[in-house]
Amino acid sequence: MIIAIDGPAASGKSTTARLVAKKLNITYLDTGAMYRALTLQLLKSNVDFDNLDKVSTILGNLTIDMYDHKGTNIIKLNNEDITEQIRSSNVTKNVSEVSALLIVRKSMVVMQREIGYKSDCVVEGRDIGTIVFPNADFKFFMIADIKMRANRRLNEMNQSGTLKTFDEIVLDLEIRDDKDTNRENSPLRKAVDAVEIDTSELTIDEQVNKIINHIKNN
Ligand code: C5P
Repeated sequence: MIIAIDGPAASGKSTTARLVAKKLNITYLDTGAMYRALTLQLLKSNVDFDNLDKVSTILGNLTIDMYDHKGTNIIKLNNEDITEQIRSSNVTKNVSEVSALLIVRKSMVVMQREIGYKSDCVVEGRDIGTIVFPNADFKFFMIADIKMRANRRLNEMNQSGTLKTFDEIVLDLEIRDDKDTNRENSPLRKAVDAVEIDTSELTIDEQVNKIINHIKNN
């Protein structure tokens, strides 16, 4: 079974997808973390994103592991724990440029399908219901008011000690959504058969229950 959850940045996808997977006792796949891991590796290796030969070499040597540890989705890249590094502002600023590259998308989709074919999964991202798993059993598209999304990000950042103003966060989210929505390859889109969930006024529990109830009743 594949449950696809797509939507713009900070719309509540990650926490909800992780908890839905936990409730159903199936795998959680955070595809955004995969694009972030590649972006981190390219930045660390000082590779220009338009140097496609080098990008391709790094892609070929990428080994990403993900697993749950006490409610945190741990991400390892070539055996190094990069869970925190991939959330840095430098990675966040650059990830949309990397994920717009066709060779990157082609390779990521292959990796994501391999995982999905092996086990039941909740897969979260931007193009899961449209491109990666167009025949997913269930598709959801999460949206939320930009101010709500920025507030959630601000709270997360306060906890991690990152200093950004509310207006800066709004701008960051708008720029990233714009890049993800208007790129040529696999843009962020709601699949025609996806159920839209507006999370602006919902608690995490309510978001999770909406999805679980829909799955149980359909
Ligand atoms: O979900 P998250 O915000 O961590 O995603 C980071 C970035 O990865 C997105 O802004 C987008 O550029 C890219 N992404 C993508 N396709 C996916 C998941 C994420 O292009 N399926």
